[in-house]
Amino acid sequence: MSNTQLYWLRNDLRIHDNHALWHACQKGSVIAACVLTPDTWHEHDDAPVKIDFWLRSLRILKDSFDNLGIPLRVIQAKRFSDSAQALMDLAEETDAQGIFFNDEYGIHEQDRDNAVAEAFAAASLTCHRYADQVLFMPGSLRTQEGTMYKVFSQFRKQANQRLHDRLPDCLPAPGKQTMTGVASDAVPESIPGFASATRVQQDSWPAGEQAAHERLKLFSDDILFDYKDLRDQPAVDGTSRMSTYLTSGVLSARQCLHAAVAANQGEFDSGNPGAVAWISEVLWREFYKHILVCYPRVSRSRAFRPETEAVPWRNDPEGLEAWQQGRTGIPIVDAAMRQLLATGWMHNRLRMISAMFLTKNLLIDWREGESWFMRHLIDGDLASNNGGWQWSASTGTDSAPYFRVFNPVTQSQRFDPEGEFIRTWIPELRDLDAKQIHQPPAGDLLGSIDYPRPIVDLGESRKRAIATFKSLGEQS
Ligand code: FAD
Repeated sequence: MSNTQLYWLRNDLRIHDNHALWHACQKGSVIAACVLTPDTWHEHDDAPVKIDFWLRSLRILKDSFDNLGIPLRVIQAKRFSDSAQALMDLAEETDAQGIFFNDEYGIHEQDRDNAVAEAFAAASLTCHRYADQVLFMPGSLRTQEGTMYKVFSQFRKQANQRLHDRLPDCLPAPGKQTMTGVASDAVPESIPGFASATRVQQDSWPAGEQAAHERLKLFSDDILFDYKDLRDQPAVDGTSRMSTYLTSGVLSARQCLHAAVAANQGEFDSGNPGAVAWISEVLWREFYKHILVCYPRVSRSRAFRPETEAVPWRNDPEGLEAWQQGRTGIPIVDAAMRQLLATGWMHNRLRMISAMFLTKNLLIDWREGESWFMRHLIDGDLASNNGGWQWSASTGTDSAPYFRVFNPVTQSQRFDPEGEFIRTWIPELRDLDAKQIHQPPAGDLLGSIDYPRPIVDLGESRKRAIATFKSLGEQS
């Protein structure tokens, strides 16, 4: 009997610390397979820049597979629902005995994976699944009452407790395989319907495991200890930029954790404040993945806090477009939105500022913003994006009540005091001084500058948002 096993790769594009790949290789000769499903990617709003990064990383991964003697089959399909048949066909063609994959947590991903597991079971083939994207099995961290945590600080406390008990290990890369005789497919340069990334985007995000590890090393050697002070300043290279690698699985959360713990002399919730703060951010990612599994309604575009489904969001196509294109007249918001369009990435502080501006000042439905971000982010991730949007819109897991409304001008003065970030992305404001740049004065000064006046009064719109959310409480 053949001892061939399929390893089905998705967002886990690495050979190191990859549970499904490692275990498949322990079991027999491995054929790696990926199924391209562009129709579903479109429906999920996956950004062209994200698909481009995924393909670039896959090409590099194929080189690593070549060195390990693992062939890579690239199956052209359309939708997630084609996966089961496509993989069963491959199993039959190659006489594979089973399939190995790492779990993914959106409801469509779970439906797809369950269908594959069922098809393999029905054919008396084995199916092995691993919780590899996360540090802990989603749903395994619970309150004393047995419910899932709704507030991050409490989740983090238990996560830290678990890490004290045992730090999850990183697996090595598998060894060289016995040849299967199966030939590899070429990885396409692009996928129809998804434009290639620009040169700037590709240069900003070098693909592949080695590039990810180089950046992680640079970050943990040179930036980590200052992270607490630098992380909120968008003009400074003060965060890890690991999200792109984590989203495509070019790097694992365990590898991030180990790098930070090693730099912090074995500690994760004490020691250097920068390292502690960064590990806490990695746990935010974890928290939102657990939320996705334990509250599947968020995967269906429903509010985490059901009572906020009643918010009367405004229909304002012009306001939405101004926000999307970076022409709201609020410089920090516009600079952020232009950074997103140009690079496919946005700094976390700016994601919060621009999301709050859309959902509070413009009172536009968070789902509009969530989908715009997904369509442009290189690190677009359902759990973190939805979590971030719902947190900002006060429909989500935030422990603070509805009145958390950032003032974008104050935020700008605080986190981009010299206006350096604004000048980078809004060159038309480059000559304004550090005082004026956050809120350009109306009138003559702007006469010669092609920059819009604010599309909304910040004070009035803040009051409107608060009154709107307050009325929900009165209704319930
Ligand atoms: P660092 O500050 O270096 O943090 C390290 C890692 O921790 C990140 O790579 C990320 O994996 C995780 N992390 C940090 N902050 C958060 C957070 N608030 N929530 C969840 N995980 C976090 N992150 C995504 O990966 N994909 C998204 O689609 C996404 N959409 C967002 C939308 C909104 C509205 C908001 C407010 C946040 C969103 N985030 C998202 C979270 C965060 O903005 C990014 O993870 C972060 O900016 C990535 O930069 P970094 O890798 O340099 O982060």
